[in-house]
Amino acid sequence: MLRKIKIDWAGLARIQPLEHPFPPPERIFPGIDEIDPQRFPDFLDEIGLVGMGGGGFPASQKLRAAAGAHTLVVNGIECEPGLTIDQSVLLHESLWVAAGAVAAAKAVGATRMVLAVKKDSTLLAELALRYGEFEIVAFSDRYPAGAEKLILEKLEGRRPPPGVRPYQLGYLVQNAVSLRAIGRALIDGIPVVERPLTLAMPSAGFHRNIIVPVGIEIRQVLEAYRLPYDPCIHFLAASGLMMGHEADPETAVEKTTLALLVLPRDAAWREERPCIRCGACNTACPLGLHPYALVERIRKGRTGGDPFRMQMTECFLCGVCSAVCPSDIPLVQQLERGKQCL
Ligand code: SF4
Ligand code: SF4
Repeated sequence: MLRKIKIDWAGLARIQPLEHPFPPPERIFPGIDEIDPQRFPDFLDEIGLVGMGGGGFPASQKLRAAAGAHTLVVNGIECEPGLTIDQSVLLHESLWVAAGAVAAAKAVGATRMVLAVKKDSTLLAELALRYGEFEIVAFSDRYPAGAEKLILEKLEGRRPPPGVRPYQLGYLVQNAVSLRAIGRALIDGIPVVERPLTLAMPSAGFHRNIIVPVGIEIRQVLEAYRLPYDPCIHFLAASGLMMGHEADPETAVEKTTLALLVLPRDAAWREERPCIRCGACNTACPLGLHPYALVERIRKGRTGGDPFRMQMTECFLCGVCSAVCPSDIPLVQQLERGKQCL
């Protein structure tokens, strides 16, 4: 299981300036000074924007649903261990992020813009210099603080009721990299053909934030940095330890690939043992769900009934329950399977 690996990221996971190991894309259309808010969702479809925080949901649909929102939230909390790409983009590409955020806020009619980031005094001071128009709100860096539901809990002062989406409370929450992509298209006429990501191999002391073409083979990215990846002793985690998955180096970087981590294979897999009813998964779940009870039902095929379905809808597959389980039960993988029954 990816989630059981313990890696000491201290001193390694830095917020470096972005590197461009491949040639940058050509301008495809002229930049746009002013865009009609009515046409903005169509523009997002034209540039091919999907949620680049990992969700991959079409950005235009999210924006249409949020019409009339009072607040735009730039989600730059990024609490997946070892990932710093959102923070690099916020710091080093603020022109594009701010332009994308202002345009998205205007399109839905939001008058308040919140920048949600980790509590880190140096980072906060730097961001204050770059995002004067934004209200900066600091969040815990404890995973999964960047989940939309937990962001709204802090902004609203109470957790949103089950099943309620941010737009129903007047919020449009957009990941920092998605907003960067909007700004890049507006200012430079370049659609979503690039992916900023964290590339790391902790055992070699390697950690970079880079921009690569969408669709490039992962193998080419590893080769560009001469990383000594050996499939017999390493595995590749795409998008992070907690919410990511194992990737094949012959596959392509996608718009939703947040990171490529080269990790020791022998630390990755452990045999599942019986549940000892310790309750650690219940205590750890940030939404107060009962993961093992849900998994028991999924394994027995008992996936009917409103309470079950409501809990499964709420679960956002953060993987915290799996990470704390002393019996190495792959809870989140089972929950993922359970979601397919909804
Ligand atoms: S994955 Fe586990 S910890 Fe995370 S929300 Fe779902 S049940 Fe809770
Ligand atoms: S943490 Fe693991 S062992 Fe403990 S109750 Fe949950 S599933 Fe069972």
